Amino acid sequence: MALPRTRRLTRLALPLAVATALSLTACGSDSGSSGAADPADNRLIVATTVSPLTSIVAAVAGDNVRIEGIVPEGTNSHTFEPQPQTAELLSTADLIFVNGLKLEDPTLGLARANMKDGAEIIELGTVTLPESDYIFDFSFPEEEGKPNPHLWTDPTYAVEYADLVRETLTDRDPDNAAAYQANFDEFAREADRLAEAVRADQQTVPDGQLKLVTYHDAYAYFARNFDWTVVGAIQPKSFDEPTPSEVAGLIEQIRAEGVPTIFGSEVFPSSVLEAIAAETGVRYEDSLRDDDLPGEPGAPEHTLLELLRSNYRTMIAGLGGNPTNLDALVFEVTVPDNAYYPQ
Ligand SMILES: [Zn+2]
Repeated sequence: MALPRTRRLTRLALPLAVATALSLTACGSDSGSSGAADPADNRLIVATTVSPLTSIVAAVAGDNVRIEGIVPEGTNSHTFEPQPQTAELLSTADLIFVNGLKLEDPTLGLARANMKDGAEIIELGTVTLPESDYIFDFSFPEEEGKPNPHLWTDPTYAVEYADLVRETLTDRDPDNAAAYQANFDEFAREADRLAEAVRADQQTVPDGQLKLVTYHDAYAYFARNFDWTVVGAIQPKSFDEPTPSEVAGLIEQIRAEGVPTIFGSEVFPSSVLEAIAAETGVRYEDSLRDDDLPGEPGAPEHTLLELLRSNYRTMIAGLGGNPTNLDALVFEVTVPDNAYYPQ
């Protein structure tokens, strides 16, 4: 498999014998799921891919289904290849939620090959986004046929995903329809509060400075909806480091646009960004979280909404604004999240 470029690489670099021994004794990502189901547990089994989607599904489902995430947090989901053991999980799942828009093709292929009779795959992004709204850009060029898949970084699309999850769960498990509706309402309300806080705080950014240069190209839809400008993303479509001529082009753009700060992330550490910052004299802020939810699984801050709050406060502060509304926001979330998030 392709190794994800991640700060958790050390775990993958364990000698094989040690890793195998660990997987026999621990419920970790090596087993591909949270472990054998309790035979008395007759809840629906729901598989999800990246942690933002797992968080959305958990927010709507609560404890009424068993949720198994597949893509480890802090992994490059665009190059992720599922382990063979994931086939076993996918063969037991009643529902499989993926983003689609060609983000998780290897996992989707494995799901289609292994899903049981009556199981259903829901491509949240593909269903949500009409083709006329696809965004193609530097990292996701049109000739490659893969649109930018990052809808969930925009809280308004996250609510649309949650509504699709609600509808799907209600069809499959009508006994809990009222709970799914109430949980969805809670998520939608909190996501709306987040969107309002972003809209209020972005007003404090100096005029003309809502311009994003990021390493990973994850904010295109957010920018379109919230009237920001994505000047560029550094990560090429190959997900390798950019070539010297690509770097030179970006340096020119950064200078021309007068961008004050460029943003990297812990998921995609990049010495290239550092070099670009040194060359252009702009600030380099390297703390975007991409798909890595804050805190540990089970902690109250381990949610998509907190992830987005963290990223947008970093961006607004980095662009010279005051994220006071985002800082003050306390999410009122009552739905438990006991989903399995591989690390
Ligand atoms: Zn991404």
